[in-house]
Amino acid sequence: MNPLKMIKHLIIGGGIAGISIAVKLLKRGESFLLLESSDRLGGKIETKRTVEACLEMGPSSFTDQSPEIFDLLDALGLKGDVLEPSPAAKNRFILKEGRIVRLPTAPPELITSGALSPWGKIRFLWEAVHVANPTKEEESVWGFFARHFGREAAEFLADPFVSGVYAGDARRLSFREAFPSMAEAEARSSSLIRHLFRNRRSGRVAPKTYQLKGGLGTLVERASGLLGEERFHRGEAVREIVSERGSLTAVTERDRYLAETIYLTSPAPAAAKILERHFGALSRELLRIEYAPLVSIHLRVSRREKYPFDGFGLLIPSCEQKKILGVLWHSSIFPDLFPDKGHHYLGIYAGGVRHPEVVEDSEERLRDLVLKEVQRFFSLRVTPEFLHLRRHRQAIPQYQLGYGVILQRIREELSRFPSLRLAGNYLEGVSLSKTAAQAMSVV
Ligand SMILES: Cc1cc2nc3c(=O)[nH]c(=O)nc-3n(C[C@H](O)[C@H](O)[C@H](O)COP(=O)(O)OP(=O)(O)OC[C@H]3O[C@@H](n4cnc5c(N)ncnc54)[C@H](O)[C@@H]3O)c2cc1C
Repeated sequence: MNPLKMIKHLIIGGGIAGISIAVKLLKRGESFLLLESSDRLGGKIETKRTVEACLEMGPSSFTDQSPEIFDLLDALGLKGDVLEPSPAAKNRFILKEGRIVRLPTAPPELITSGALSPWGKIRFLWEAVHVANPTKEEESVWGFFARHFGREAAEFLADPFVSGVYAGDARRLSFREAFPSMAEAEARSSSLIRHLFRNRRSGRVAPKTYQLKGGLGTLVERASGLLGEERFHRGEAVREIVSERGSLTAVTERDRYLAETIYLTSPAPAAAKILERHFGALSRELLRIEYAPLVSIHLRVSRREKYPFDGFGLLIPSCEQKKILGVLWHSSIFPDLFPDKGHHYLGIYAGGVRHPEVVEDSEERLRDLVLKEVQRFFSLRVTPEFLHLRRHRQAIPQYQLGYGVILQRIREELSRFPSLRLAGNYLEGVSLSKTAAQAMSVV
């Protein structure tokens, strides 16, 4: 075994959380080392580029939910590379009884939208007048929406939205933990419709979606260049963190690193394994966090087809009983990333907690499933062309009922080890912007 190496700050994991910490330390002029088990930086972020298209294997955009993501882009010299979505991206769709239905983009459009039945619309709007009090039990996302807007809205609006963000089950996710800003809004004004109108009058709008020139891979490449070989070791997995007489040592197959501070940013199951021997209670809490598996698939469709694909995409409520959760119309959202103007480029997301088995299906079965379904959804004359597939076995952490208690115990355990910091998408939000903000907050 090589001699013990001394490091001031050690970062484990090079996803958006690890990158955000590294860039913040770099700005402060601190010395650090980032250890990544795979052969590249980025974690879930992975962009494949061809002359025709820029395809995202993982996340495909980021939001302005937290300003820190822009601080990160600024530090990487990428503020000028931010792309806004096309105006068409405001159009969003759901599948209802096998048909594609456009969602209202503003409250008055609800009247003409086919997303809800006439009674469903009346029940939805009734929210501005009366909202039943919550019960004492922790409320699921589905329960919250049903209480505010009626069961139909929960089924056709909340359920597919939860699939789109968490690949999760609206009936099992904690509303307070999964959508904290909406929970805060309810605390201020019982009606969310009235809250929305008040926000609109004061100019506050819903979170916006962005991309980067060259895709999200641009962020990873810029970070990689800034870190350089001496601050970033690829292919070096941490096996465990040892706590001895108040100091922490990270052990890998190659080396042992004695660090003043360790930032552990791997997904919760990997973190649990690393902490198993010396931080048993913390490890057990991390193991309680469930993840949704997901398969992302890229297809392309000739622009000669009739269906216009001018929008953000299609989400599929669970009552439609499909293995596909949604279809993003990537080339319509950020057309600049798709020089090939002869095709529409679509991203298909399948599996999630509703159909976890899908992630283990053979490539042939997956091809068969998505090509047939997509052809049927959009009444295409020709079968779409299959481009790429990526399996994410631990795609998104589930902020399930009881999650607040898990997080509270994690925080209590962590407070006993000030030199150990946890960061990642299972702590304060799953989006890239929330994960970056949480990670920066522990530095
Ligand atoms: C298909 C998909 C689509 C998504 N779409 C969006 C989107 O459009 N917008 C959005 O905002 N969010 C999206 N998300 C969510 C977002 O991508 C993730 O929440 C975020 O990227 C997670 O970042 P992270 O740093 O917490 O974890 P990760 O990206 O998982 O990074 C953790 C890193 O730790 C490394 N690691 C693990 N174990 C070890 C070890 N023992 N030693 C060293 N390194 C280790 C891993 O290799 C990995 O690189 C999507 C997620 C998926 C899966």
